[in-house]
Amino acid sequence: MFNLTYSYKLQPTAKQIELIEQNLLVCKSVWNHALYIRKLWYNSRSCKINQCPLHSEYIVEPFLYPRYHTQSADLTKAKKTNKFLKSGNAQAMQQTLRKLDKAFNDMKSQNKGFPRYKKEARSFNLLGKILVESNYIVMPLLKSIKFRKSREIPDGFVIKQVQILKKASGYYANLLTELDVNVVEPIPHGHALGIDVGIQSMIATSDGWILPRPKFLERALRKIKLLQRKLRNKMAGSNKWNSLQHRVALLHEAVANKRKDYHFQLAHKLCDGVGMIFVEDINFKSWSKGLFCQQSLDMGLGQFFDILEYVCSKTDTYFAKVDKNYTSQICPNCGVHTGKKALNVRVHSCPECDYTVDRDVAAAEVVKSRGLTAVGLPVV
Ligand SMILES: [Zn+2]
Repeated sequence: MFNLTYSYKLQPTAKQIELIEQNLLVCKSVWNHALYIRKLWYNSRSCKINQCPLHSEYIVEPFLYPRYHTQSADLTKAKKTNKFLKSGNAQAMQQTLRKLDKAFNDMKSQNKGFPRYKKEARSFNLLGKILVESNYIVMPLLKSIKFRKSREIPDGFVIKQVQILKKASGYYANLLTELDVNVVEPIPHGHALGIDVGIQSMIATSDGWILPRPKFLERALRKIKLLQRKLRNKMAGSNKWNSLQHRVALLHEAVANKRKDYHFQLAHKLCDGVGMIFVEDINFKSWSKGLFCQQSLDMGLGQFFDILEYVCSKTDTYFAKVDKNYTSQICPNCGVHTGKKALNVRVHSCPECDYTVDRDVAAAEVVKSRGLTAVGLPVV
């Protein structure tokens, strides 16, 4: 199961802008109020260091922990009498509560910071029937809204949600798409390909193909960095600042689109003449925090694997992830552990069997044989 997000610039009418602004405002209040209640609950449990927790645990009357469902029920109740809340879209408000709930869960599970109050409203989400019809996006609340169609959404993806976003350069719609799950899973067959995601290269395959990092992305990112540096010297909100901000937003959008197209092209190229593809099972979320941060973000490898999986399912290519551990420390020819290679060592050279090959290709070969073993096929 995987998702892709497509960002488009909206061209709303005055009436639609009014609706967007009103909902931004309502959703901000919903967020801030729900956060206040949750903070109250946390504070009601704290006690001073020199006081016995048994007697001073509760500052306010104890109440049940405000989870998503209780807050959602409270909101429905409050909407009956509150005119301001009534003016907002129900789904947008519920999604705001969900986002807050997620922020609290992330805080606990991923050790993220305590959610903050919002000073400015920037976005809200809409659910329901969302369609793209020529130059219009059809969605709840805003009905039919004009947009600049900078690119097509590929077949098989359904739009699950739309996020309406306000930026300095205007209003945007982020379409969150999901692949329709009714695809027949291809069975392992034909030529097998192992893929290793490298550090200096984007990917290397077990067939010996080494693909360097795409240069056009680096160029665009350099341009963005340059504009952002200029932005820092301008006064926020000034005309110059606004137009720079606009250019940065457009560049970001262009980079994201280019990258996605590039990923689709690359995925099709890899699937050509291949019956099964194996990749390493990498958690890109934790990866992008560590050593490989900039590179993996530039290349969007997590997204690439999603797209690759999608293209595989469309081209009857079997796709599977294999254990990633020690792929770069094992000789693909004889299986002996050769130990950790320093980052600057570019070649795998086995002391046991003398097998010598590019280190990333060697890792891709290990990925391939692990994949073949996993599906019960002989390693050749
Ligand atoms: Zn060897």
